[in-house]
Amino acid sequence: MAFVTRFAPSPTGPLHLGHAYSAILAHDMARAAGGAFRLRIDDLDQSRSRREWELQIYDDLQWLGITWDGPVRRQSECTDEYASALNRLEALGLTYACACSRRDIEAAAAAPQESALRQGPDGVVYPGTCRTKHLEPGPECAIRLHMAKACAATLPADFFDTGQSFSGRHLLQEKVMVAEIGDVILLRRQMAAAYHLAVVVDDDASDVTHVIRGEDLFEATHIHVLLQKRLGLATPIYHHHRLIRDDQGKRLAKRDDARAIATYRAEGANPADIRRMVAL
Ligand code: GLU
Repeated sequence: MAFVTRFAPSPTGPLHLGHAYSAILAHDMARAAGGAFRLRIDDLDQSRSRREWELQIYDDLQWLGITWDGPVRRQSECTDEYASALNRLEALGLTYACACSRRDIEAAAAAPQESALRQGPDGVVYPGTCRTKHLEPGPECAIRLHMAKACAATLPADFFDTGQSFSGRHLLQEKVMVAEIGDVILLRRQMAAAYHLAVVVDDDASDVTHVIRGEDLFEATHIHVLLQKRLGLATPIYHHHRLIRDDQGKRLAKRDDARAIATYRAEGANPADIRRMVAL
């Protein structure tokens, strides 16, 4: 079987040790399998993406000895593809427009009749305020997936049991998807698509067969598998790797500049040191 994997950083800050681990792992697996390693730049959020971070990503990866196959895919150049996938989901009746702000959502979710603020992969699970309002989509609206409809009935009982291809069980049920993930955003205001839709379209367009990424995205993978089924796309094999944490056990984030690859480089580290630091 062909092996095509990818690394997909967002150019919103410096690459840190966690990124290095993910990129090296995916790259080395692709090389060992005689497959392909692709690079994608997740720059849909134009308010946070910066060209200089993108250039730094290329530079850091090259320094680490990571080579990629084929052209770099930049999400900001693929917006037509996301629009067409969204149209297909709309045509299936699986979406609706939502005019809620983040504050509206938190207020509605915290209302006394709601049992608790449930946290899903994207933060508070959307309480469904706009689900039955039939708002006209427009620039002031986001588009959400109607999770209950997207999961509904026609799915075979073992629909989500892609267990053996995952690094954990993805045996999902409609009620879990609805209660714990909810109506996720597919199109964000002022953006060409939201992460979940874009990533599914991208991996398909790049013929990705193996997705190797952090276990922080394990929950999100449930959404991606569902979208793939609804869009009639193949589901790659997913491997969720451990996260690189700081001394306090907290996972590294973009703000951890101290762990930026560029900082270690400036201090004289070499690529083998980075591999050692992430226990590779
Ligand atoms: N840009 C995303 C991130 O850095 C991509 C993750 C993925 O889909 O693998 O978290």
